[in-house]
Amino acid sequence: MNYYRPMVAMALAAASIASPAEAKWLRAETDSFIIYSEGNEKSLREFAANLQRFDATLRSIFRTPYEGEDNRLPIYLLPTSEDVGELASGSRGSSIAGYYRGDRDGSFALSHRETGDANPKFGTPMAQQVLFHEYTHHFMKRHLRAAFPAWFIEGFAEYHSTVDFDKDGRAELGKPVYSRAYGLLRMPRIPAEKLLVQQPGEMRNSGQTDVYYGRAWILTHMLYQDAARDGQMGAYVAAINAGTDTKQAATQVFGDLAQLDKDLNRYINGRLSYSLTRTPIPVPTNIAIAPLAADEDAVIEARLERLNARGSKERETKARDLLRKLVAADPANAEAQYEYAAAEWDMDEDLRDLPAVRAALDKALAAKPSHVRANVLLGRFLLHELDEKGEDDPAAWREARKPIQLANRTDPLDPVPLYAYFSSFLDQRVRPSEPALKALERAFQIAPENVEVRVSYAFALANRGEFDTALALAKSVAFDPHDNGRGETMLKRLEEMRDAHAKRGGGKDADAESDDAA
Ligand SMILES: [Zn+2]
Repeated sequence: MNYYRPMVAMALAAASIASPAEAKWLRAETDSFIIYSEGNEKSLREFAANLQRFDATLRSIFRTPYEGEDNRLPIYLLPTSEDVGELASGSRGSSIAGYYRGDRDGSFALSHRETGDANPKFGTPMAQQVLFHEYTHHFMKRHLRAAFPAWFIEGFAEYHSTVDFDKDGRAELGKPVYSRAYGLLRMPRIPAEKLLVQQPGEMRNSGQTDVYYGRAWILTHMLYQDAARDGQMGAYVAAINAGTDTKQAATQVFGDLAQLDKDLNRYINGRLSYSLTRTPIPVPTNIAIAPLAADEDAVIEARLERLNARGSKERETKARDLLRKLVAADPANAEAQYEYAAAEWDMDEDLRDLPAVRAALDKALAAKPSHVRANVLLGRFLLHELDEKGEDDPAAWREARKPIQLANRTDPLDPVPLYAYFSSFLDQRVRPSEPALKALERAFQIAPENVEVRVSYAFALANRGEFDTALALAKSVAFDPHDNGRGETMLKRLEEMRDAHAKRGGGKDADAESDDAA
């Protein structure tokens, strides 16, 4: 889920001069987040408080109960939007200013703290809008259990990116996204009908993407704020979740799409209204800030490089080489040894040095035997060895799972060991045990935004004959604009399983195909 810088902000960023690298990294902990940032404690505290207050706002609007977040979202703040773009794309000059990702290593968001161009006349600072946009993606994926079309995923994030608070502490919703004005008013328009069915990835350049985000925002704004369209958004989402085709659902609820386009164009030029929450949203006080431990501080930038290198051979090699140097200089640093092992492991099978992975994991665990992620990776490593050997002795597989179980005991709230435990049975090509299915269920409860976990859980439910919940989960993946069609294949497969199940007369399925979840 990338946030693309609007055209205007890009021009401003290009004109600004990057500030020199600051000293140490700080770690801020709130009820919902762990924020990593360099430098100034006061501004980090403000940032963290604002974000936590925004989280409370979303929970109040969407009636999401708050019992404390078991699995808090890590957020990394870089000095400038240029830095974020470089990390995301691998080169300077990218228009990506922030992004949110949920993958095997857990979810995280990346944003910046550039406030130099803030002008109160144009709303809250850009850095805050980018972060609110990204966090809204996370909130939607984690807490709103429905399928949403691509345009609305971005429109919804843009709509909430400008949340601000009035003097009584009430949250203001639907304030303008000024930075999209240029794209909306001066660039070629995307007709409403096209917007409703198009994926942001189909845009050919950053200008078009800017217009797409702007149109998605203004359509969301109109549906939320225009009294004449009250209730339409809910009906549209309900229709899609009931299986109606996206375009048909839109026509059914919004009426003629050419007319919708005209209404939208009129709406852009009108005076935009906004709404207020009924009650004030308190400023959170539970924020703890401390400098990062020296071993983690030494490795955090290399970790970001590794997390962002995925899929690019060149960048994976760069991250690996960087970490190799770090461990050579400081072999007793468990964090560095783990990161190096992970970077080596992430390389293509024909390029990676497996004995080096093992040696680094051993060193990491010698320095810190309870290191959660190092134990998970050791488990994966051992499972991989057994798979390569074609091992069929169950005792050997049980032994290989032990480091993963240790990781789970060390941090029962980390979804990564839970999911690794479940997937070890898929590696072994046997039916997952009852505890493995429980681990998968728990991983899904604490990280429902993780697509891999969601897919596996959907198949596990289907295997138990719970097709309605399984299909609902599959749909939420199928509509993800960044999914590349994987969700649709899964949806089809689940529907086939359901039909075959019905043909056999229903009931519990003893010979379910648990390997499908791989
Ligand atoms: Zn986005």
